[in-house]
Amino acid sequence: MMFRATKYICPQCHKQYKVKSSLARHLKLECGKEASFKCPFCPYASKQKYPLTSHINFKHPEKRLKLMYERSAFI
Ligand SMILES: [Zn+2]
Ligand SMILES: [Zn+2]
Repeated sequence: MMFRATKYICPQCHKQYKVKSSLARHLKLECGKEASFKCPFCPYASKQKYPLTSHINFKHPEKRLKLMYERSAFI
């Protein structure tokens, strides 16, 4: 007998996956790591640093320059 409706559900955020390895990847790489890198100027958030860096470059270029002068450690 086939279990066509089998789903793998994340116990933390309840995302559903058809493949067990996808859930494992989610748990390892994604779950709980969302919004690790938050834009200080708007609600944008990224799981990785690079997309946030490019977001700031495109969306807030003036503020980025200002930040670089004021806080050279940022980005
Ligand atoms: Zn999750
Ligand atoms: Zn932003």
